[in-house]
Amino acid sequence: MNSTAHAKQTASEVVPETVSTHFSAEDAAKRNAVERRAPHTWEQRVNEIGGLRGLVLRVGLGPPEMYAKSTKWADQPVPVVNNISEHIFVWKFIIPPMLMQWISYKVFPDLHWHPVAAFVPYAFFFILLAALTIKRFHNYMLEYGTFDQENRGRDHISDKRHMRLATGAVIFLIFRVVGLFAYSYDRTVAPTLSVWLPLKIFAFEVILDYAFYCYHRSCHQVKWLWNIHSGHHAAKHPTPVQAIQADSFQEVIELFIVPTIAYLSTGFDFFDLWPISCVLIFTEIYGHSGVRVYFPTLASSFLWWWGGELCVEDHDLHHRYGRSGQSYGKQTRVWDSIFGTCAEREDTEEYAIIGPKRVKKQKVA
Ligand SMILES: [Zn+2]
Ligand SMILES: [Zn+2]
Repeated sequence: MNSTAHAKQTASEVVPETVSTHFSAEDAAKRNAVERRAPHTWEQRVNEIGGLRGLVLRVGLGPPEMYAKSTKWADQPVPVVNNISEHIFVWKFIIPPMLMQWISYKVFPDLHWHPVAAFVPYAFFFILLAALTIKRFHNYMLEYGTFDQENRGRDHISDKRHMRLATGAVIFLIFRVVGLFAYSYDRTVAPTLSVWLPLKIFAFEVILDYAFYCYHRSCHQVKWLWNIHSGHHAAKHPTPVQAIQADSFQEVIELFIVPTIAYLSTGFDFFDLWPISCVLIFTEIYGHSGVRVYFPTLASSFLWWWGGELCVEDHDLHHRYGRSGQSYGKQTRVWDSIFGTCAEREDTEEYAIIGPKRVKKQKVA
């Protein structure tokens, strides 16, 4: 279903005319077809790397098959996989700290959790969610394969970048939760779940994505911003842990400025933002897995007919074509669709045309 010729034709169509690229989309296709790997010798001594960074690297390192080419899935349609189990998976991490706090507030009504005390269980479950999402998607990548795997396996993290990525991951995860507390925690309020939460999650994703879209598109079109963003694009075929591969300046923008705009724009409270943060990190990680499936979301039925739904393939193509990559949204394709910057899909396109509900579900054996 995917061929090099088709990839080249599609790639040349997606290069925006206004963008001066470091290399053309055709060059990108050729480059990706060649197995060029930066040294990654750290993988052999990963168990000797201590501390939190060693832990991050051990979690982020996938099984060898993930990094290898395979033609096993090349001619098969992208399967539609029901993602109810993914929702259940995420909620297993959202609920426990809220439940602990809710029980505590019922039993000891005058004991209000200090932000530092509350931070511990919330940060623990947030980091556990990130780690187990990475592992979960490693398994899916073996089961369903990854996009473009007939030409290239997933990228290794190079010796040059591995410690930096691990540091970035630790900062990213901890400060996401610090930010959440700083913006919205009120110790006098007991945990509640809003009946409007599904709509709030969607609204937050669209608002966050608008801020991210503006920043991300600028990164690809303004040279000095590209110099910052190019660190994230070191991976042409990223793995889940590379969702947080970035240069430090980019981390500051994505960690603080972009989410702050969304937090301030919505004014949601802590018990809205906590589940939203969990859904966001889950989406960011699986969006970098390249797993060759289509997960319809709760909003897909509403979004598919005008092309506003985001598929795993969209961000995978974004990485594959480097600076010329389009589809700048990270949570949705709403803004790409409105501003005409959707990259043409190479494998998942049929679902965008006829809609996920009308495609017979298939599972790769
Ligand atoms: Zn980018
Ligand atoms: Zn990315």
